[in-house]
Amino acid sequence: MIQVFQYPHETLLQTSTAWTDADAIQGYDDKEKFESDMIKLMLDERGMGLAANQIGITKRFFAIGHETFDTFQKHAIIWNPQVINSSEEKVIDVEGCLSFKDVFVKVERPKIIEVQYETTQGKTRFAKLDGMESKCFQHELDHLDGITFNKRVSKLRWQMANKG
Ligand SMILES: [Zn+2]
Repeated sequence: MIQVFQYPHETLLQTSTAWTDADAIQGYDDKEKFESDMIKLMLDERGMGLAANQIGITKRFFAIGHETFDTFQKHAIIWNPQVINSSEEKVIDVEGCLSFKDVFVKVERPKIIEVQYETTQGKTRFAKLDGMESKCFQHELDHLDGITFNKRVSKLRWQMANKG
């Protein structure tokens, strides 16, 4: 049974390591069953993204997807994601996080990113992301480096957001 851990759960603070063919998910024989459980959990929690370390696994992958997205319109698990290029242009937009219930804060990030990742079938893919999809990918990738969104904003902005 997988669940979303709340900050400051220890795995949220850790840097995750690359996913390799030798890796397995504890409690699952079947990667596809795990994949559908993780996506279901994300959807049940009304998220657009869910990083592995949010469910206690310190490996580099996350679930992503939303009907308004271009590349990840269909929900998927992204393995070993990387940003290979980011625009100098930045945008500030509101973010939420499943590990911080009811906190919404404006975070500044590069507007457009070019990314590389592996599919569940082990194929390498490239994509250019913009808008919410870009923001979401960057937020999830940050998780894999132990960076939660409270570390991307000023103390003052964080305190304001927590006042609701
Ligand atoms: Zn998050």
